[in-house]
Amino acid sequence: MKIIPFLILFCSLQARATVCENRGPNVILFTWDGVRGQEFFRGTGAFHALELKKEERGEIFSTFWKKHAGEGMVLGGGNRYKIGSRTAVSLPSYQALTLGKATACTKNKDCPPIQEESVLETIQRSLHLQKKDVAVFASWNRIQDAAAKNLELITNGVYPNRVLDETMSEDMLKLQEEGLKDLPEWNGSRKDHYTFELGLGYLKKNCPRLLWISLVDSDEYGHEGKYPEYVRSLRQYDQYLDRLLKALASMGDYGKQTTLIVTTDHSRGAGPLWRGHGVTKNTEKNIFLFATGRGVKPIGRVDDRGLSLQVRPTLEYLMGLSPSGQPLPNILVE
Ligand SMILES: [Zn+2]
Repeated sequence: MKIIPFLILFCSLQARATVCENRGPNVILFTWDGVRGQEFFRGTGAFHALELKKEERGEIFSTFWKKHAGEGMVLGGGNRYKIGSRTAVSLPSYQALTLGKATACTKNKDCPPIQEESVLETIQRSLHLQKKDVAVFASWNRIQDAAAKNLELITNGVYPNRVLDETMSEDMLKLQEEGLKDLPEWNGSRKDHYTFELGLGYLKKNCPRLLWISLVDSDEYGHEGKYPEYVRSLRQYDQYLDRLLKALASMGDYGKQTTLIVTTDHSRGAGPLWRGHGVTKNTEKNIFLFATGRGVKPIGRVDDRGLSLQVRPTLEYLMGLSPSGQPLPNILVE
């Protein structure tokens, strides 16, 4: 009678692993708004020490540096990796990211929606992908003006839009409604908790070819001058990244054929100017990028230089299209 426990074990393992029809290649873009290199590379530092309890000081992205950094490539530090928009402001930077070139606007309020195809749309059109294959879940409502010029063609999970089709489970639909009621203290966004869980749920349920999860709590706490909350949101991002990578590791061939890219849209001012950005533009353009998974050399921190404008051609290259510019270094598909 040994076969029965074996069968039970087998079935429970089967139930836990997501089986994806789609085997890839796939790309996930995970962006955190307004995160400084200071906190990403070094931790909390001396300037803010008195605002934090002892146990809150020090390294922030601990799980990342311990478990994941060496499995991929980390660009940045000093001015080695920079944003390609004219100013260190969110919407111009996200538009530069999805278009592969800078748009004319320099302030969020002056930025019209993108007028040309985003990289998500180009990949979708070129590979004849379905609506459910390309998805964006974002906390900040203005991400809609960078994600696509025609949002109806992709799964639009940008706050406050509701996704109401078969790509959503009962639990996800419930979470989506809760996120529209349980709003943060700032305008124009939902809390990152909801955005992340919706994005992760979407990944597991639908195995998308392209997924962008865009978080914003970090930038909002920064503007409010709440350093402990800013740091807490970053430690939460560290955990989210770990969960995302765990999910991919449990997804068989789909996970193996997926590249994950993590980055931010701009840095922030130094010392007493840390709350804002777009002021001392030379340093606030210095950001970081982590890539891991399919096609990425597992070499950890590198000294290579790069620009956020290279993300678009990198996505095109990874998805098998001819890139519209120079892809990021240390990425090579066999
Ligand atoms: Zn901001």
